[in-house]
Amino acid sequence: RVAYVNGSYVPHGEAAVHIEDRGYQFADGVYEVCEVRGGRLVDETRHMDRLERSLGELRIAMPMDRKPLGMVLRETVRRNRVRNGLVYLQVTRGVARRDHAFPKPGTPPALVVTAKSIDFAKNDANAAKGVKVISMPDNRWERVDIKSVGLLPNCIAKQAAREKGAYEAWLVDDDGFVTEGSSTNAWIITKDGALVTRFADNGILKGITRTTIFDLCKREGLRIEERKFTIEEAQNAREAFLSSATTIVMPIVEIDGRPVGNGAPGSIATDLRAKFHEVAEIA
Ligand code: PLP
Repeated sequence: RVAYVNGSYVPHGEAAVHIEDRGYQFADGVYEVCEVRGGRLVDETRHMDRLERSLGELRIAMPMDRKPLGMVLRETVRRNRVRNGLVYLQVTRGVARRDHAFPKPGTPPALVVTAKSIDFAKNDANAAKGVKVISMPDNRWERVDIKSVGLLPNCIAKQAAREKGAYEAWLVDDDGFVTEGSSTNAWIITKDGALVTRFADNGILKGITRTTIFDLCKREGLRIEERKFTIEEAQNAREAFLSSATTIVMPIVEIDGRPVGNGAPGSIATDLRAKFHEVAEIA
């Protein structure tokens, strides 16, 4: 395997960043994960738009223009011979002597890109059975709309899910409403067939998959309600599912030990999963 690190392609096992990289010291950086399908990038434009937004909110410069960045992503995919998988990119505020305040203007941001294959057959098998989720308090900061590499609460939540034999942890705010999963967006489908997902304020990451599912729902004539919902409403819903670039649409069959719907993957979620790539940009 090969990684791109600040201008060069290096063997993955030897790829390293400086000990004073601000990503390492302060989680002062952002990332993107883009699905690779047939060697091409899924929804690259939206991922680049979100990257620019995350960087802008943190006042980190783009490490290079979009066009060359797209070339680096593709070259990393190519050199790793990834047909189906993901490409990961991370930008940090760069290397500087440790000080909480930002380094002096002109300090170049650091860019790392990796790519790996994913066994989508295993994903499909999970989707065919449906997955379990548990709930956890959402104790993250108030700017999770920024795709920051500061993911410790997310890691703790995912680990709790794993230890309980669940696929994902749904995070619940102080008022009892689900915000999103530790690395996925959260959805339910009401008895009358409306898709419900939380509005994208500062309390969730506005998933690219979420946005493309909106496009798909428009095409399919499905109604979306952007609003909050509770764990109880989700447990009593017709269907539930989660979404992200690598899970696409993953049906949920159990929440906190209680079955959703009839306890089998829902037909609407399964259909959205099958049709997702018909509306996504693949380039
Ligand atoms: N929410 C969180 C916290 C995430 O980390 C992710 C993706 O990693 C998502 C939602 C889904 O976003 P996307 O569809 O862009 O992968």
